[in-house]
Parts: sequence; structure tokens; C-alpha cells
Amino acid sequence: MQTEDIITEQSQVAALIGNPVGHSVSPQLHSLISKSTGFPLTYLPFKVDPQDLESAVKGINALGFTGFNVTIPYKCDVIKYLDGISKEARLIGAVNTVKCSREGTYGYNTDADGFAKAFQKETGSDLKGKTILIIGAGGASRAVSVKAAIDGAEKIYIVNRSIEKAASIAEIINKNVRSCAFAYGLQELEHDELSSACNVIVNTTSLGMHPNVDALPVKKDFEFNKSQIVCDIIYNPLKTRFLKLAEEYGCVTVNGLGMLFFQGIAAYEIWTGVKCDDGLLNELYNSFYRSIKFEL
Ligand code: NAP
Repeated sequence: MQTEDIITEQSQVAALIGNPVGHSVSPQLHSLISKSTGFPLTYLPFKVDPQDLESAVKGINALGFTGFNVTIPYKCDVIKYLDGISKEARLIGAVNTVKCSREGTYGYNTDADGFAKAFQKETGSDLKGKTILIIGAGGASRAVSVKAAIDGAEKIYIVNRSIEKAASIAEIINKNVRSCAFAYGLQELEHDELSSACNVIVNTTSLGMHPNVDALPVKKDFEFNKSQIVCDIIYNPLKTRFLKLAEEYGCVTVNGLGMLFFQGIAAYEIWTGVKCDDGLLNELYNSFYRSIKFEL
């Protein structure tokens, strides 16, 4: 162990809680960020059983951790154990980053910010004025959909196997942000009227994620338009079958690694107060991409 790796009373420590946590690349990301900023943060993953969630949250705060990330399946359930949450996290209904302090625990959703920042970095464009088709209505879709509305998307079409979940997100957006969201069942994608009206298509379902890499969120004869920007928030594999299909049509594509990267940067900034400038962000982004090795 090197001197700088020794954890003392003064060390800043952050945690990841979820179940499972073994697959997470967040420890790798935070180690990379800490080494580059020179402001060390020790980041430790903990597998927490459902009956222990409340005591884990209280315990992490009591021990003086600077904060923690929350992953599947606790992003919604954790809210009831926190002392406060941001307006954006309240609308999304999920928290993935918590800041601990003497005043208590305060939750944020940095997945939303992560998606918007990755989109901007990788396409040179933003979500303002875009008509967006979002496939899926799970936790990640809530973050992407609400953020798209907050950032000024013109229209948001949310398509999901269980239409009631899509309708619930659309209702939250229409009531609290702006009237711009519409919900549909998956069968709507069989006609191309809806998708052809969109500038941006985002897969937020888990279809295509390792190990089920042959799965697609759309029919295999789905037609893209080459002017569309096509995103898949899955990052394992880096290029899903959905993105490969979009590439065949000449679309600009964005995978989920950028979203993962930027949600981690936002969490680090919330915990430490250290801001990463553009030069450092570029350097970290490139190192993170190079360091990622998935089992495919
Ligand atoms: P979730 O809450 O479980 O939602 C899963 C979504 O996929 C739901 O819309 C679900 O539809 C749909 N789905 C699953 N199996 C399906 C099937 N066989 N046919 C049709 N639809 C199906 O999961 P989540 O937390 O939103 O995560 C979704 C994906 O996003 C995962 O791959 C996750 O790794 C990724 N993600 C990436 C990042 C990042 O930083 N890049 C962050 C968060 C999540 P129903 O509602 O009908 O069940």
C-alpha cells in the first residue's frame, strides 16, 4: 500500500449501495477521478439487503462518509430514508447520489444530468427544441424523460411495453414541467409515423444488454432516418445491436458510457465541491474509455 492509499480520520470516503454491486464500474471511475484531481476520495461498494437499507443509510451518515451512490434496486426506496431531495430528483422519483453532512442526508439524481451532458459532448447538440422518442419507462427512462422536458425538448414520446408506466411519466412531465409528453404502447413502433417525426431516439430498456446482446427494443426491420441521433443508455456492450442497426442507416449514435461517466463526475463534484474543468474532463473521459474492459 502506498502512503496516499492509507485511509485516515481525515480521508473522504464515499460508498455505493445496491444489490448486486459487483458489476459496477463506479469504483474504477472514482479512483480515476481522484487520482487526476489530487483530491482523494475513497469509494467503496457495499451489497445491502432490502431489510438493511434504512440502517445502511443512517450508518453511512453516522460514520461521517461524504456521501454515497445508490444503484439497483434502491434508487426509489432510498428516498424515504433521506432528510431532503432536490426538485429534479423529486420529479424523477429516484435518487442515485446522496450528500451526507451534519445537517443530514440530501439526495440528487445525477443520471439525468449525466445523460444530458453525454448527449451534448458526443453530438455537439442539446435536447432543446428536439422531438424525442424514448423507448422504455423504467427508472432510467424517468431520469432521461424528465431531464429532456426540463432542458426544453419540443415533444417527448414515451413508448413502453407496459403503457401505464409510460403514461405515469408523461403525466408527471405534463403537470410539473410543460405539456410536451405523450405515452404509447410498444406496438406504436410498428408504424413509422411516430419515429419518423423524431430527431432523437433513445433506448432506455435493458433489451440488448449483456448477456442478451441479440435482443432489440424494436423490430429488426425498424427504419431509422439518417438525420436522427440514436442513443442507447446501455454501456455493456458498448455497441448494442440497436446502435449497430442505426449505424447501418448512417445515424449518429451515442452509447451509455458517457452517461455513466458524467453522472459520476456530477456525484464527485457534489461530494467534494471540486469542479473538473473542461481540459480535465476531456482527459478523464478518454482515460475512462480506454480503461473500460467488459466481458463480452
Ligand atoms: P428498469 O427500471 O428495470 O426498466 C427496464 C425497462 O426495460 C422497462 O421499460 C421495461 O418495460 C423494459 N423491458 C425490460 N424487458 C423487456 C422486454 N422483454 N420487452 C420489452 N420491454 C422490456 O431498469 P432501468 O434502471 O431503467 O435500466 C434500464 C437500462 O438502462 C439498463 O440496461 C441499465 O443498465 C441502463 N442504465 C444505464 C445508465 C447509464 O449511466 N448509462 C444508468 C441507468 C441505467 P416494462 O416497464 O414493460 O417492464
